[in-house]
Parts: sequence; C-alpha cells; structure tokens
Amino acid sequence: MTTTVEVFETQTISIFDQLDELGHEQVVFCNDHETGLRAIVGIHNTVLGPALGGTRMWSYKSESDALNDVLRLSRGMTFKNSVAGLNLGGGKAVIIGDARKHKTEALLRLFGRFINNLGGKYITAEDVGMSTKDIEMIAYETNHVCGLPESKGGSGDPSPFTALGVYVSMKAAAKKAYGNDSLAGKKVAVQGVGHVGEYLVAHLVKEGAKVYISDIYEDRLKAVAQKYNGVEIVGTDAIYDLPVDIYSPCALGATVNDETLPRLKAQIIAGCANNQLKDERKHGQICLDKGIIYAPDFLINAGGVINIATEVNGSYNREWATSQVEGLYDRTLQVLDISLKDGKNAQIVAMEIALKRIKDMARIKSIG
Ligand code: NAD
Repeated sequence: MTTTVEVFETQTISIFDQLDELGHEQVVFCNDHETGLRAIVGIHNTVLGPALGGTRMWSYKSESDALNDVLRLSRGMTFKNSVAGLNLGGGKAVIIGDARKHKTEALLRLFGRFINNLGGKYITAEDVGMSTKDIEMIAYETNHVCGLPESKGGSGDPSPFTALGVYVSMKAAAKKAYGNDSLAGKKVAVQGVGHVGEYLVAHLVKEGAKVYISDIYEDRLKAVAQKYNGVEIVGTDAIYDLPVDIYSPCALGATVNDETLPRLKAQIIAGCANNQLKDERKHGQICLDKGIIYAPDFLINAGGVINIATEVNGSYNREWATSQVEGLYDRTLQVLDISLKDGKNAQIVAMEIALKRIKDMARIKSIG
C-alpha cells in the first residue's frame, strides 16, 4: 500500500507494474472452460481487515479492460471501506460475460468455490450484473459472501442503502451549492436506472425533484418512467448536454472526463457509480475550477457496504445500518468543507482521509 495519493491512469505497462503502481497485494485469475468462467479477483489492501467488495459481471471488450476495471474497483474499495470507518480492506471481483446470457448455476457456484479457496481474505457481494439470487448460488460454495437475502439471515440487497447514502450526500452537496439542502424543484439527470439508480429516482421524485433518466436497456427505462411520476427519458449521450442542476452517474465509471466535462451544465455531480472521474486528480481539479461540487464517489456510495459490514460482523441490524448510512450526509459536508476551504479537489481530500486511517491502523496494529 502506498502512503501517498496515487493517481490512476489507463496503463499499457506490465501487469506487475500496474499492481506496483496501484498498490495491490494479490490478483487471482479464475478459469474454467466447461462453464465458461473467466473471473479476476483483485485484493488491494487488507490492513484494516479482509478485503470486501462486490463481484461485477460485464461483457468487457477485452481482458485488459476487465483487469483494468477490477484493479480500479478494488483500489476504490480500500478507500471506501476506510473512509466509511469499517474494519475491512479493499477488494473486488469481475466475471467476464454478459450477465443476461452467460450466467448459469454452475458458473456462479464454481466462482464461489474459487472465492472459498482464498480462505476469507476476500469477501464478495453484489455489484453490476449480479443479484441476491446469484449471491445465494455463490453462498452454496462459500461462507465468504454477504448480501444474502434477509430471509436467509443476511442484509439483503445493498442497493437501497447505497441509494439512501447517495441521496443524503446529494442533499449535503446541495447545501454547499445552494445554501439549503432541498432538492425540490431541482433538475437531476440519473444515468443508469439499475438497482441503485431506481431507488435513487424514488427518493428524488418523493422530494419533488424533476428527474431525467437514461439507460442502455429499454425495459429498464420504461419500467422506471411508468412507475414514477414526471420522470423523463433521455438518450445515453444526450444526458451530458442536459441543462440540469445535478448529474448523477449511476451506471459505469469514467464518465467525468475530457469529453464530457465541457458539455456538463450541472453544478453538482453526485452518483453511485464507482470511479466516476476518469483521472482522479485532473478531472477532480477541473470540477473544482469550474465551480462544480463533486461529491466523491467512494465516499457517498458507501451505503451498501456499510449495510453489508453489519452482516459480516454477524449481528445484522437494519435500523443501526440505516442510521450509519444517513451519517454520510455529515461526512460529505465535512469533505466538501475542507475541499472548498483549502481549494483542494474533493476526491483527493477524501482519499487522504482514507489513507491516513489505514496508516494509523497499520501503526497501532504493530504495537504490542
Ligand atoms: P445495475 O447493473 O443494477 O445498474 C446499472 C445500470 O446502468 C443498468 O441498468 C445498465 O443498463 C445501465 N447502464 C450501463 N451502461 C450505461 C450507459 N452507458 N448509459 C446509461 N445506462 C447504462 O448496477 P447497480 O448495482 O445499480 O450499480 C450501479 C453503479 O453503482 C455501478 O458502478 C456500481 O459499481 C456502483 N455501486 C453499486 C452499489 C450497490 O449497492 N449495488 C454500491 C456501490 C457502488
């Protein structure tokens, strides 16, 4: 683990050089011809505890895209779990394939067996392309999994908690931008209405925001637009040009980049997607310079993992988890306060808080 803030950029360097640069402890490749399983587990840092982070299933264009994604995501989990005050390290897994076509019981259970072989160093959960049902399959083969249905003693789908955390943090960002945290009447563009995106839309509509949505799947768009009053569908590219107050990336990462920043009109960027800034330092700084309040992704989307952490501790309590997630309002305000006062990129401020905690805990663990 590096103790300074490292900035990630897409690399064409060797795998080990990438691991060195990002500070990974271990990366595991899982392969099986019969089931078609091709998965990569990234264990970034285990100073605070076992590495916890979900599994993503996605049709990556190339194996290097998949590796790149798992490296970025697992590193992000280290920051997320640390800044959320959890005794958990950072890890993540990706399965290469189309979640709507290639997911089978055998593939998921074999993946569970690979996770089991890691002996608890990595604990998995849901991410894009995975559901609680899939988690149940994985759990047939390993105990190192969470996000199981509540009926099975788990904490259930983390998405409503992630959405709650993003919603309260968006309100905190609004407080900084407008002097009060009301989202009533604010125009919000939600990019991606999957698990988290839909729950977020529900909060926003309830508060009286005007919501625009985009998604690559027509069925998702129709379902959400029909269910929530006044929600308008926009194109996947047109979303970047909308005259909105808040842009909420809730699909995949790197959507805040050289190409989109000149197009975005929003004064706030706050969403659940991981790794929203293509380049943490450069694009975080551009947000700051343009007067855009960027609410750090790994800080505000920690609701799901905060909820899950109570399951890992073996004492799941929904009320306690909810109150912890609501605490993201104050944490976001705190980070944005420092960012604006010191004129420092909010993402870097949040990363420094996370790194300091890891460094402090490593030190106290070395005593006695
Ligand atoms: P999901 O797969 O349920 O939803 C993602 C949605 O984005 C899908 O409907 C997909 O069709 C859509 N999408 C993909 N590419 C798009 C594009 N170019 N434009 C518009 N829409 C697009 O996933 P989710 O669980 O809702 O997670 C969403 C994001 O939040 C991911 O980046 C995930 O890593 C992150 N996240 C999720 C959780 C959680 O609790 N589920 C927690 C923390 C972070």
